[in-house]
Amino acid sequence: MSSVSRKNSGEQPLIGHFINGQRVLDSGNPLPVYNPATGQIIRQVVLAEPSTVEDAITAAEKAFPEWRNTTPLSRARVMFRFKELIEKNAETIVSLITEEHGKVLDDARGELQRGIENIEYACGAPELLKGEHSRNVGRGIDSWSENQPLGVVVGITPSNFPAMVPLWMYPLALICGNTFILKPSERDPSATLFIGELLKEAGLPDGVFNLINGDKQAVDILLTDERVQAVSFVGSSAVAESVYRKGTENGKRVQALGSAKNHAVIMPDADLDNAVSALLGAAYGSCGERCMAISVAVTVDDQTADSLVSSLAERLETLTLGDGKDSSSQLGPLITGEHRDRVKSYVDLGVEEGAKLIVDGRSKLSEETGFFLGPCLFDDVRQNMRIYQEEIFGPVLCVVRANSLEEAVELIDEHDYGNGTCIFTRDGEAARYFSDYIQVGMVGVNVPLPVPVAYFSFGGWKRSLFGDMHIYGPEAVRFYTRSKVITQRWPSGGVREKVKFSFPGSD
Ligand code: NAD
Repeated sequence: MSSVSRKNSGEQPLIGHFINGQRVLDSGNPLPVYNPATGQIIRQVVLAEPSTVEDAITAAEKAFPEWRNTTPLSRARVMFRFKELIEKNAETIVSLITEEHGKVLDDARGELQRGIENIEYACGAPELLKGEHSRNVGRGIDSWSENQPLGVVVGITPSNFPAMVPLWMYPLALICGNTFILKPSERDPSATLFIGELLKEAGLPDGVFNLINGDKQAVDILLTDERVQAVSFVGSSAVAESVYRKGTENGKRVQALGSAKNHAVIMPDADLDNAVSALLGAAYGSCGERCMAISVAVTVDDQTADSLVSSLAERLETLTLGDGKDSSSQLGPLITGEHRDRVKSYVDLGVEEGAKLIVDGRSKLSEETGFFLGPCLFDDVRQNMRIYQEEIFGPVLCVVRANSLEEAVELIDEHDYGNGTCIFTRDGEAARYFSDYIQVGMVGVNVPLPVPVAYFSFGGWKRSLFGDMHIYGPEAVRFYTRSKVITQRWPSGGVREKVKFSFPGSD
């Protein structure tokens, strides 16, 4: 199966949409999709016309009445088959991820595995959807709660996890009995479409899952159409906030996960070798294009800071850049030339702002060979610098020197973003204080990327999340359902209701 539908006047293949179980190619504007490792355009993605978005909503709306009445067990069986199909096609999927995103193959495999874990969780549908029941809440009266589906729900996903983030959303939304429209990132659409199409082969009825490629215009239609009940969004905070406002103004339930600036605190008693290895992976893995990437290392004494910086600098010299298919490379390119230039401009800015550039990855920048930028390391970064305040989303680690754990905690708490954080220490008391008080949604103790497993839920605090509910896991079941409580009496044995004007009690 290919996610590509037909050739564009003999040039790059065009990628369209998947609506009502069929591939659809409309005459919307095509946008180039690059192989970031070569800088070449390899495909074009068609941005949905308004009528195509309407078609997807209509298909999802029509499929809902039938799908909502299927049994949770039959929905779970679709998910079991879906998981098997993804595993069978895993190497094709990870190659597509690497080809269009640039992350190295091993990293793409890790992303897919974390996505599959959400399908495995969704396979527990009959258990997850159970309500509660009480017999005799009044004499001869029983009461129970139900988790009912919402209807048509939408997912809008970012470029940095084309497989995993969509899988955070629709397996759970579907097993709850909803129908779904996915609007993935237009930058690396092929893996997402390939995976989505496997749902049909897994036995999902047509129209229950639909995918449209598009931009703001498509998103605006989804946010304002009254048939759409709920929206899950993952992307940058600026867009997340506007999606949250527009969606809620239009009466929808919205969760919108946004940007990050994740701090790692390195205590003087930490195992420094271990912390350095962990930081290298967490700061530079996926070229820093992860919402859980560590982008700030905070020390609480100068001696640790000096050792950390020299050790990081030494190890950074050994990292190799490559196209990701080569197993010897640890760092791929950034996703687009535009984004690479944006990251580079932050490095220029850091120098202007007076931070010390210890490792300068700009020397690895090449115009001819893809969107590469080498790893960069700044020391002496201050709270008032823009390279500290803003999300860079590239291979740039900033070291900030604090004077105590309390000062480090205050620094992290004052930051606008509160997605993830971690502490490296051997001191249980420090770790407990840190995880207890820090104003951040996901915390690691000697774990640099504390991404919750599928049976917990994922979500940051502050400007990293707009809305109340976290994504996937138990909170997703609540987000994708509406609770109803039914109280029932069947008059029997000649018992008849007497007229009562008092408020009913439970005796
Ligand atoms: P992005 O905000 O540019 O795009 C995300 C989605 O929004 C895409 O589908 C895109 O087409 C759409 N979009 C873009 N501009 C829009 C607009 N003006 N109106 C409506 N929709 C719009 O994000 P990205 O560059 O694809 O992804 C990287 C960002 O996502 C980073 O900021 C990263 O931190 C964040 N992210 C957050 C999480 C999380 O869980 N908090 C996870 C992954 C990525």
